[in-house]
Amino acid sequence: MAKAKKQSVPKGYRQTATVLVDPGGSWGSLIRAGERVRFTDLEGRQAVDFLCYSALDTRDRYNAANTMKMAENLFINPGTVLYGEYATPLMKVTASSCPDHDTIGGCCSVEMNQLRYGRRTHSCRANFLHELSKFGMGEADIVANVNFFMSVPVGPRGRMAIADSPSKAGDFVDVEALEDVVAVISNCPQKYNPACGYNPSPVSVELYAPQRSRARR
Ligand SMILES: [Zn+2]
Repeated sequence: MAKAKKQSVPKGYRQTATVLVDPGGSWGSLIRAGERVRFTDLEGRQAVDFLCYSALDTRDRYNAANTMKMAENLFINPGTVLYGEYATPLMKVTASSCPDHDTIGGCCSVEMNQLRYGRRTHSCRANFLHELSKFGMGEADIVANVNFFMSVPVGPRGRMAIADSPSKAGDFVDVEALEDVVAVISNCPQKYNPACGYNPSPVSVELYAPQRSRARR
C-alpha cells in the first residue's frame, strides 16, 4: 500500500476529532458554522460519496444543479460553494490536493449494481440511509450527491463515464460549513467500476474548529 502524506492543520484551526472510515463504511456528523472537515484518501483511488443538509431545515440540502450553475462548472474545486435547495450557501471547499471532484455520477446502489454488473452488493445508497437515519432522515432525503476523489469526465456530445480515479495516497479535500450542517459520507464499496480502483480502501475524516471559538465552548 502507498504511504499517505501527513497534511497540516488549517491555519487558525485546531483539530477536534479524527475518524477512520473502513472500506465500504460510512460517517455522519453535525458540523457547526465555521468548522471544517477534511476527507483524506489514505491509499489513493477511493471515491467518497458526500451529502450535506442545513441542520436548521434539512429540506435545504445540497443541490447539485444550483452548485454547478453558481460555479459555472461541472467540477468541484477549491472555492466551490455547495449550494442548497433554497440557494443557501451550505459549505465551501477551501482546499484540495486532488482536482475536479464529481457532481454528476451519483451514488452506487444495489439496484444499479444489479443492472450494470449483474451483482447485488453493498452500496453507497445503503450507507447514506444508515447515516441519514441517525438524523431522522430517510430514502426521500437522498439526492444527487458529490463524489470526492471521483473522476467523471464529460466529452463531446455529452458522453460521460466513471473514469480511473485520479487521487493519490494522502490526497485530501477540506470543506468548511457556512452554516450549521449535517454532513454524511459513504466510503464507496464499489468493486465493479474504477471509482475505488476496483479495491475499496479506508479514508480518514478530521474535524477542525476555529481556534478563536474555544472560549465560547
Ligand atoms: Zn458507491
